[in-house]
Amino acid sequence: MADIIIVGAGAAGLMASIVAGRAGHSVILLEQNTKIGKKILVSGNGKCNITNRYIQTNRFHGHNPDFIEKVLQGYGFETVEPFFTSIGLEFTEGKDGKMFPLSLQASSVVELLEYEAKRIGVQILCDAAVTALAKNTDTFTVETRQGTYSSHKLILASGSPAAPQLGGSNSGYAFATKMGHTLIPRHPSLVQLCSEESWVKNCAGVKVAGVATLYANGEQITEKKGDLLFTTYGISGLAILDLSREVSTRLASFDYCELSLDLMPAFSKERLSNLLLDRIKSNSEKPIILWLQGVLHKKLIPVIVEQSKCKAKAESDLDRKEINKLVHTIKHLKLTISETKGFEGAEVSTGGINTEEVNPLTMESNLVPNLYFAGEILDVDGDRGGFNFHFAWVSGMRAGIRN
Ligand SMILES: Cc1cc2nc3c(=O)[nH]c(=O)nc-3n(C[C@H](O)[C@H](O)[C@H](O)COP(=O)(O)OP(=O)(O)OC[C@H]3O[C@@H](n4cnc5c(N)ncnc54)[C@H](O)[C@@H]3O)c2cc1C
Repeated sequence: MADIIIVGAGAAGLMASIVAGRAGHSVILLEQNTKIGKKILVSGNGKCNITNRYIQTNRFHGHNPDFIEKVLQGYGFETVEPFFTSIGLEFTEGKDGKMFPLSLQASSVVELLEYEAKRIGVQILCDAAVTALAKNTDTFTVETRQGTYSSHKLILASGSPAAPQLGGSNSGYAFATKMGHTLIPRHPSLVQLCSEESWVKNCAGVKVAGVATLYANGEQITEKKGDLLFTTYGISGLAILDLSREVSTRLASFDYCELSLDLMPAFSKERLSNLLLDRIKSNSEKPIILWLQGVLHKKLIPVIVEQSKCKAKAESDLDRKEINKLVHTIKHLKLTISETKGFEGAEVSTGGINTEEVNPLTMESNLVPNLYFAGEILDVDGDRGGFNFHFAWVSGMRAGIRN
């Protein structure tokens, strides 16, 4: 009989296992994949954006902000950094407070966590998917593909359905709801968007530093600045990932979602209009498609010309009226969003275990004594920038430390 069984060897489970193991508890860490920490390994394009120097509650989302605030209180960057130093990992800082391992290798995060967990006696079992859970009077019985284990305490750190190819699963929700917990609806977040317009596929691969504004049922909701990457199915890029949470939840409420893209935010309407007007040479027969290549990516030009309903065929046909149409389209290109790329494309999931039912200081269930939660299984998700891992680390610490 172990003191603690932890389901899921992702960020939250690994952290909880080390904290609990260091406190002298016997810990079994169960992982369904053949390797631990699969999401950590691919995170941040293989560099792992491990946390953020500027932890603020407004970078985290969930229906119970009070819970998030209490979890984070006293558990900011200054708590996470010394933990990683203690296992031998140094940090380097990127833009906007994003922290990465100094090696810039996500694998170093996993390998150092694994070494520390094993060093202090945590028993890690891979290829050990938990298939059933039961709570007896004061013990938990856990059935896995490798056998049955029991413990006094149980930590569910089995994550969300995001990225099923890396182990994303709903199984933790099923176990928790069977024990009486309720769920807040889950939607994909930090996810690419599919558009109704078929012209996007002709622009696939084009990336511009732009601004995307989201409209739902005609009402302006939010605006994000950053990369806009056209794809065969729609649009991706950092600005799109940043507003995808809002799109995902609004699509789930059957809202009509439209993006307005500013492809040249560095130029005001006036500046761009003047630039284009100044470039017109009278008597020039240069085709307008070629003329615009001095300003825009080649693949975007036919779209801009068509969408703007510009009638000019050659440079000399252009006048103020035609330029106004082109400028308006460059700065307000419309894209109708039909759906997201789903959990398969998502980095995280919104929703999860209702945090009204969990103690934010200990992560213990308010409904089932000795049952704990940590990480993305809970109804908390964060912005891009290291916030999702931060929540996994600190909720894992809280769940492990109190045991
Ligand atoms: C491509 C990608 C890139 C990302 N990049 C970043 C980034 O740079 N920075 C950042 O902050 N966040 C990033 N994230 C988000 C981050 O990975 C997650 O928020 C974080 O991993 C959540 O940690 P967790 O421990 O709660 O869940 P997970 O890491 O998902 O771990 C849960 C574990 O439980 C296991 N499991 C599930 N069910 C069972 C079962 N029944 N039995 C046994 N084991 C089970 C799973 O296999 C998994 O290993 C990224 C996500 C993805 C998909």
